[in-house]
Amino acid sequence: MQQVTLETIVSLAKRRGFVFQSSEIYGGLNGCWDYGPLGVELLRNLKDAWWKSMTYRDDIEGIDAAILMHPRVWEASGHVANFTDPMIDNKVSKARYRADNLIEEHIAKLEKNGKHERARNLAARLSAAREPEDFYQIIIDEEIADPASGSRDWTPVRYFNLMFKTFIGSVEDANSVVYLRPETAQGIFVNFRNVLDSSRQKIPFGIAQIGKAFRNEINTKYFLFRTREFEQMEMQYFIKPGMHVEQFEYWREQRFQWFLELGMTTDVLRFKPHDKLAHYAAAAVDIEFKFPFGWGEIEGIHSRTDFDLSRHEEYSGKKLEFVDTGTKERFVPYVIETSIGASRSFMAFLCHAYTVEHVPDAEGDDAERTVLKFHPKLAPIKAAVLPLVKKDGMPEFAEKLYRDLQKSFNVQYDESAAIGRRYRRQDEIGTPFCITIDGESLSDGTVTVRERDSMQQIRLAADKVKEYILQRIL
Ligand code: ATP
Repeated sequence: MQQVTLETIVSLAKRRGFVFQSSEIYGGLNGCWDYGPLGVELLRNLKDAWWKSMTYRDDIEGIDAAILMHPRVWEASGHVANFTDPMIDNKVSKARYRADNLIEEHIAKLEKNGKHERARNLAARLSAAREPEDFYQIIIDEEIADPASGSRDWTPVRYFNLMFKTFIGSVEDANSVVYLRPETAQGIFVNFRNVLDSSRQKIPFGIAQIGKAFRNEINTKYFLFRTREFEQMEMQYFIKPGMHVEQFEYWREQRFQWFLELGMTTDVLRFKPHDKLAHYAAAAVDIEFKFPFGWGEIEGIHSRTDFDLSRHEEYSGKKLEFVDTGTKERFVPYVIETSIGASRSFMAFLCHAYTVEHVPDAEGDDAERTVLKFHPKLAPIKAAVLPLVKKDGMPEFAEKLYRDLQKSFNVQYDESAAIGRRYRRQDEIGTPFCITIDGESLSDGTVTVRERDSMQQIRLAADKVKEYILQRIL
């Protein structure tokens, strides 16, 4: 992957219709983004790739649960009590920060300045911090200043719940409170029995879901990385207690491989084990991607014991156990969770695809091209059909082919400008195949197919083109 700045990605995303700021004509809404014509295709292709790899197998079923759920769900899950971040305000700039992030940035600065021992000690102190005062004391002791104003005049740290609250029905009182779900996982846990009873699954089996999640993040930042509305792709794998070490290893490898199969490379991906485990977790690891601003989590794999199902048993009064019909054994299953952000990994795939390179132009001179090297499965437009010139029957031939390809996948037709410019336009949006119709096409029915990355061209019979492309994008 090439070094690219976030500004370049944001500007390309807007210019070519991948991502726009939400409500842009009103000045935008912080932490919310809209997907444009190309972005929505890329996002759908990404979700499809995940859905196929997770649910087109014997042991995993898909669901699509409602975003609004019974408020007791979030008491059982621990979100009402614990889904909080420590927040601090600077009295001079009035800027608000996540206290733990301020400290993490300070640790990174110490590391950069070669103060490794101090950084290590502070990291240990941060991971032991529980109470608001613990975070506050670190900020004071370390004399951490506001990045915006340089001021050290801080308010006390307070915990802030990240769930968006709203009301169901016309009366806004405590009895009508509902939350916008902050994760999709709970929709899976509460449907565990329904799926078990209505499918032919037995332990071990999984349930997968893709959907929107909402978090009232204190600081949104880095484009799609931390937003208030986003999409998750989560899978909960229900297993027999005791199998969790083996299954955790299995899923961690599977998920890493998935990114590689879609064109990511090992220099931009790494595992990061959690320093601090949630009290119910037996193990947890993140898959991190090397973003333009540094390494950041794109997926978490968590070994969650029987915490979730046991809590829902307790709060709902319903049995959520599995009975082995052979051995008559009863148990509440353990869970391995894989949780990836669709929008956050969309951004990772976009950054990874971005390439600027020097190639010879039509005259053989050195030229620069920007190309998005998406895996063909992810590319928003799969092929472009380009008549070499706008005459001699080429447009008619091209349009017939275009209409036929359009029945199977997303294609563009372009007859304006010189062929070289049209190729560059497609390169910049990541179209893997350009099909050119020239004089020979009219005499022998063949066309050229140019592959985006190698720029090599082959000649194929026009009626073989669809199959050729389908083989590469499915
Ligand atoms: P963080 O520590 O970054 O806040 P988290 O550990 O709380 O994230 P999880 O709850 O494990 O994140 O969420 C799983 C996945 O959902 C993350 O790996 C990420 O891809 C995605 N995700 C979480 N929060 C956001 C957000 N605010 N914006 C975009 N994607 C998010």
